Amino acid sequence: MTDFAGNQAIIEIVYLVASALFILSLKWMSTPATAQRGVRSGEIGMGLAIAGTLLHHGIIDYTSIAIALVIGSIIGVPLGLVKMTAVPQRTALSHAFGAFCVTLVGTAEFYLRSPNVPRFTMSVLSMEVILGSLTFTGSLMAAGKLQEFLPQRPLTYKGQNLVNLSLLAGSIAVAVYLVLHPGARQLFPVMVGMPLLFGVLMIVPIGGADMPTVISLLNSYAGLSAAAMGFVLDSKLLIVAGALDGSSGLILSVIMSKAMNRSFSNVLFGAFGQEQTSAAIGQEAKPVRSATAEEAAGILAAANKVVIVPGYGMAVAQAQHKVRELYDALSKRGVEVRFAIHPVAGRMPGHMNVLLAEADIPYDRLIEMDEINGDFPQTDVALIIGANDVTNPAARTDAGSPIYGMPILDVDKAHTVMVIKRSMSPGFAGIDNPLYYLDKTLMLFGDAKSFVNDIVRELSGGHH
Ligand code: NAP
Repeated sequence: MTDFAGNQAIIEIVYLVASALFILSLKWMSTPATAQRGVRSGEIGMGLAIAGTLLHHGIIDYTSIAIALVIGSIIGVPLGLVKMTAVPQRTALSHAFGAFCVTLVGTAEFYLRSPNVPRFTMSVLSMEVILGSLTFTGSLMAAGKLQEFLPQRPLTYKGQNLVNLSLLAGSIAVAVYLVLHPGARQLFPVMVGMPLLFGVLMIVPIGGADMPTVISLLNSYAGLSAAAMGFVLDSKLLIVAGALDGSSGLILSVIMSKAMNRSFSNVLFGAFGQEQTSAAIGQEAKPVRSATAEEAAGILAAANKVVIVPGYGMAVAQAQHKVRELYDALSKRGVEVRFAIHPVAGRMPGHMNVLLAEADIPYDRLIEMDEINGDFPQTDVALIIGANDVTNPAARTDAGSPIYGMPILDVDKAHTVMVIKRSMSPGFAGIDNPLYYLDKTLMLFGDAKSFVNDIVRELSGGHH
């Protein structure tokens, strides 16, 4: 008995430390200077949480747990090694696994306890499995769309929202019935089945461009379902971790929606990115001015103030280290170089910060959009490296554009604009960029890494 109580106390202390580490982890991850510490403390917290759980008295045999740990590691380790550009779909897969697990636990708990399930427990258990099952299929669909296993294009039909919301409403109705009559075991699969289908149908009308926001929202649902599971299992650790996950996911989706100037309902029901290609094709014929690396190097060397705008293309080309060399070469010549960071440049929040930090570019050179936008009129050269949508002035001027209203980097106000990209292809939103046809714009066609390399070579060649 005392042994049991002692064991229980140790577990509670381990859980308390783990919860504290999760909270500190989120705090530290909010700035680049402490982000690595944040990741470490999150890992240690999770390690402690698993260890504490393994100490549990109720465990009579570790064999199946050991098998599960091995299988989990076999899946988890390769998932941790994917390219950074694939992190959004990787994250979606993690949510799918977490949500699947939550749904399975909820289902097991129901069949173990039914018909004696108190109303409160049945309510949170229903919330757990409804959120868990819609997050499971929704996350799988989101990952499939991002990995392009599934068409990125939104698929819409008349009455779609009604059909989807009825499914959700149906499962909530069944949940209410089960709260009142927890012995109706045959209804449980109906309560789980409807949100499973809803998860699939919910993602069908959402275009690829909105998927990262949706994934962040699904993250929040997964967290909430885990917190609900905490109430069912009477685990404070799960309640804390789930609530942290649920609220941080929600805050992140709000930040992303704001950065794209979209409302939640617009993200979820707006079928954004519908008329993809047509707009881009019509523009092919318009003339643009292009330049060589030698010309670009000359213009950069003559500038006083340069703002570099990195985007998704820099990530794809893995050009960040070359960009660092360019930063060094220009700084050495006395050119003031800063980096303009758009909140949704790349494919995930913080994408550019991470890449530039990896290349050891000082944090104080990275300037957020709101802060740097006022400086573009005094900027000699805005050098865009693989960014597109986040610089598209149509967001300010063209009320018919799908990205109208999205806050952008006002690069078109700089004296000269140079754009490194491989072709005239559109970016993620699939639309043409009027910036490229301005008189002040020079297109530098090529892969970001090799083009920046050529510029650096020209700069150092001219120097010696
Ligand atoms: P973008 O609009 O997707 O444009 C990237 C550009 O990079 C493309 O036009 C492409 O043109 C070029 N590119 C690709 N590979 C390249 C290479 N190897 N070398 C040089 N250029 C290359 O990117 P963005 O300006 O960063 O905007 C991000 C987009 O993602 C926005 O629409 C945003 O709303 C969306 N999004 C982001 C997040 C987030 O959290 N960051 C979340 C949701 C949605 P070429 O093919 O001609 O080379």
